Amino acid sequence: MIAEIEVDLDAIRANARTLAELISPAGFSAVLKANAYGHGLAAVGSAIESHVDAICVYGAGEAAELRAAGIAAPILILGPVEPSELATAYESRASLTLWSEGSFLRDAEATARRGGRRFEAHAKVDSGVSRLGLDEANAARTIASYLSNPALHLRGVFTHLAAAEELESEFTLAQLATFRRALGPVDRTLRERSVLRHAAASAAAMLYPALRLDMVRAGIATYGIWPSSQTHRAAHDAVTLLPALSWRTKLVVVREVEAGRSVGYGCTFRTERPSRIGVLPIGYAEGIPRALSGAGEVLVEGRRAPIVGRVCMNMAFADVTDVTAARAGSRVTLIGADGPERIEANDLAERAGTIGYEVVARLPQAVPRVYPVRVASGSV
Ligand SMILES: *Cc1c(COP(=O)(O)O)cnc(C)c1O
Repeated sequence: MIAEIEVDLDAIRANARTLAELISPAGFSAVLKANAYGHGLAAVGSAIESHVDAICVYGAGEAAELRAAGIAAPILILGPVEPSELATAYESRASLTLWSEGSFLRDAEATARRGGRRFEAHAKVDSGVSRLGLDEANAARTIASYLSNPALHLRGVFTHLAAAEELESEFTLAQLATFRRALGPVDRTLRERSVLRHAAASAAAMLYPALRLDMVRAGIATYGIWPSSQTHRAAHDAVTLLPALSWRTKLVVVREVEAGRSVGYGCTFRTERPSRIGVLPIGYAEGIPRALSGAGEVLVEGRRAPIVGRVCMNMAFADVTDVTAARAGSRVTLIGADGPERIEANDLAERAGTIGYEVVARLPQAVPRVYPVRVASGSV
């Protein structure tokens, strides 16, 4: 192995159960976009299917992949679908997200007519992200047209929040008010037809009970990663999340380097003492943020070691002078636990000036995901 990503599916299942219980009676949907936040789409989908009311993905291809893996749960495609992908979405019995009445809608209607079954859909309302969604002023009229469209089966209406990681965010409460106003004229019909209203992602699901509505869409928390340090501080007494992903590699060599020598591109690191420099066989092409150059840490043989010099395309350096056990072949942990030490995705992200979301979402698909099978205690 050059690198290995190990994913604890039991931890993901436990997180899904914890979150589902917390937000009950609201429904729970897990967000599996970006290869299940780097954890592996089909494996995560199969593991949590029986714990969720729905699965959200970004594109039609992901819906097809989940169906190919035998997953039967309702699927909502959150992102745009190209006309050429409509058949894939339809055959995957996935719900589209709708936010306009343009030619896309006519293409979807045509797909449904050909297939002889209505296209399922959720309508998206923009309440403050200014990204995708119907404006407040047009929302009710457009949603009414979806409701009366014989080619569509409207299953949900939703919005997305901009600042729910912040405590007592007035903006978040204003977004809820906007969403409610936008739906006002069709509210009775939506209720009569059991159309789901949803708004909260992980942070709001934990911090804002009023935003749970009929369903939440939880991504990052499902993987045991806190959406923000504020969310962690506010909710960790009430909610236990188990990190699921470990990212490991092995040292290729350990170099003995005398004092005063330069290490790596740009000569940004110079040894101040006789040093032992471990070389990792992965770099920014394999997902180590280059911003960790001279700023990150890894675990080597269960001890913390600083990343020194610049992270290269396919290699990086760790100063293992103080890790006496370090040698070629030593286990290196970038995310996860080794002995008493642990590095969380958010720890790594903070050192790189980014967020845990980005770190796990950018882990390359090509790195094999390993899913250890735990033997239930007592059954051996
Ligand atoms: C990604 C996403 C989510 C999940 O967000 P988390 O913060 O990871 O829980 C929910 N809804 C939409 C529309 C998204 O794009």
